[in-house]
Amino acid sequence: MHNLADEDAYLCAQGRKLTATKEFIRKSKTGFHSQITHYSCENCKDCPAKSQCIHGNHCKTPLEERTKNIEVSKRFQRQRQEALERIISPEGIQLRVNRSIQAEGAFAMVKADMTFRRFLTRGNKNVLVETMLLAMAYNIQKLHCKIQAEKLNRHRIPVDNAA
Ligand code: SF4
Repeated sequence: MHNLADEDAYLCAQGRKLTATKEFIRKSKTGFHSQITHYSCENCKDCPAKSQCIHGNHCKTPLEERTKNIEVSKRFQRQRQEALERIISPEGIQLRVNRSIQAEGAFAMVKADMTFRRFLTRGNKNVLVETMLLAMAYNIQKLHCKIQAEKLNRHRIPVDNAA
């Protein structure tokens, strides 16, 4: 489905238009409310792609009589687009590079070098304490390595740009 930029509608693979028919609020199991827009195809009659396009094998209405419907949260779509733009922006790329340096390397060291494969305790508080002890051990080890290599106060990416 392609969203038509200049009108509130989608275009399907067969070039037919799905227009907005109604809006409603959906409440999730966790109690989150989202505004949903319901779109319906203007004409699915004699479509050669109908069996691939319309799903739901338990529907009592025969496939020939059915019409393609989709439900979209415009807010979710907008936020997803904004997130994508931030991720692929120059700043977003730099933050991702930093993340891979900071977080992935730390995970690798903790899991492989320090052989930390699973928590030894149970319960949120105990796991938090274990995580903090692990982080302290990791930081001390990292500081020790930097001192030995005389690399204190040297950063791969300028501190001003790091996040
Ligand atoms: S079934 Fe309807 S929405 Fe789906 S491809 Fe055919 S015409 Fe388009």
